[in-house]
Amino acid sequence: MTNAFFKEKTLIGSFFNTVAFRVIEEAEVNGELQENLIEKYAVISTQGKRAHSTFLDELKKNFRGLDKNEDIHRLKKQKSETKRSIQSVIDTWTEKAKTFPFKVLVTVLEQSQSSTVGFTVTVSNIMNVKLVVKPGATTNEVQRIVMFGIDEKKNAWEDSSYLVFQRISQLAIGAVDYINRTKGEDSLEYLLDWLASYNDLYSAVCHRCQKHLYLDSQYFKLLPPTLRVYDQAKSYATHPQCV
Ligand SMILES: [Zn+2]
Repeated sequence: MTNAFFKEKTLIGSFFNTVAFRVIEEAEVNGELQENLIEKYAVISTQGKRAHSTFLDELKKNFRGLDKNEDIHRLKKQKSETKRSIQSVIDTWTEKAKTFPFKVLVTVLEQSQSSTVGFTVTVSNIMNVKLVVKPGATTNEVQRIVMFGIDEKKNAWEDSSYLVFQRISQLAIGAVDYINRTKGEDSLEYLLDWLASYNDLYSAVCHRCQKHLYLDSQYFKLLPPTLRVYDQAKSYATHPQCV
């Protein structure tokens, strides 16, 4: 197994288990992941293991289309270039979004002294996505991403009352990790594209099973296609289980 594989594993595990995350940080001391420490991580929490396998499977299957050599080449090239500000990325993307056949609105909420930017992405009349993003040296760090129904008045540190948006918020963690790894400085732009692809949440049938509702789990119950996957830069609606 490659280092990239472990990296993926750690990113996913960290979301579910902060203890495990500390082990992973130790494991990265020399800039490389140590296999024995990764194994230590694996036995810390059965919850973490379950989450790992679910999300790893989803990531590997769902975002295959983004992983291309040309992207990796471009990522390396961009590392030395000046980082664009979050606001300018949003401005550029908003201009592009005007050509979409549906409405997407990005509202920047605050810019604190620590330069963390909070903003809301309103996708059509479907959902509000609240993000808190911290500018980084090479990539912007998404500290929080959470989906809400269009009628919900909640802040970025709360959760939606709707199961469908709780589920999409869960899937978004994996998407952010993957996009960050593969898109570097373009991550935010791709993330906005990915969010906009949810404009057909209530109408799209699953690309695979051709149905709208699917029994996601005992907790989430029947849900529409909650995932958007890319293939050849085109997004498809799908149930996570159908990928
Ligand atoms: Zn399906």
